[in-house]
Amino acid sequence: MIEDKLLQLHGRLARACAAAARPVQSVTLLVVSKTFGPGAVREAFQAGEHRFGENYVQEGVDKIAALADVRSQVEWHLIGPLQSNKTRVVAEQFDWVHSVDRLKVAQRLSEQRPAQLLPLQVCLQVNISGEPSKSGLRPDEVPAVARAVAALPRLALRGLMAIPEPAADFAAQRAPHRALHALLQALNASGLALDTLSMGMSADLEAAIAEGATLVRVGSAIFGERPAFRPAALVTPDAPPAA
Ligand SMILES: *Cc1c(COP(=O)(O)O)cnc(C)c1O
Repeated sequence: MIEDKLLQLHGRLARACAAAARPVQSVTLLVVSKTFGPGAVREAFQAGEHRFGENYVQEGVDKIAALADVRSQVEWHLIGPLQSNKTRVVAEQFDWVHSVDRLKVAQRLSEQRPAQLLPLQVCLQVNISGEPSKSGLRPDEVPAVARAVAALPRLALRGLMAIPEPAADFAAQRAPHRALHALLQALNASGLALDTLSMGMSADLEAAIAEGATLVRVGSAIFGERPAFRPAALVTPDAPPAA
């Protein structure tokens, strides 16, 4: 089932790359496994996937432990919001963080990254659609933060990440992805050497690939819809069997 979905998705990625006249190897798939258990991740791993994205630190740490036997063959990416009091376990256990949106978080990650590991690979998250409630740096804040993060010893700044506002039509989907690409090019023109544009999800990966995405983060197209959030306190027990 997961294997079939992955096969379909790789076909979709290949078609999107062909439409954009890009080689298929220029786009990396990050399998977003949030809310799905370690069994689902292992199934995707056995189908050939080696990069997994998690939104919640503790859920990610639990899955890293559940797949400890294949740790050296898997890259674990944190793609969800990161508070500064949760940086240590992330610095110790993850390979990538896409959601760095404050210098303070980056500084802590660098200080806490164990010396025997490779530098932590990071992207800056940008609020590219300018949504008031969304996390991410404003585009005008990015250059200064990028320079400061690039100078941190135990981090490797790789690029930019965004979650654009959902849009129905292709042209509207492309616009924010194009803006993120332009921001990356401006940083590189100013002397950085960034190679990662983390953008594109199940609903808009064609638009992201058309605008230069190098890594797409895909969950529901592989695992199906995520269960809706259901607070435990509101879950009523099943009715007792009729007497
Ligand atoms: C959940 C999530 C995704 C994957 O979204 P789908 O629509 O399920 O493909 C990608 N990026 C981030 C940051 C996410 O939180």
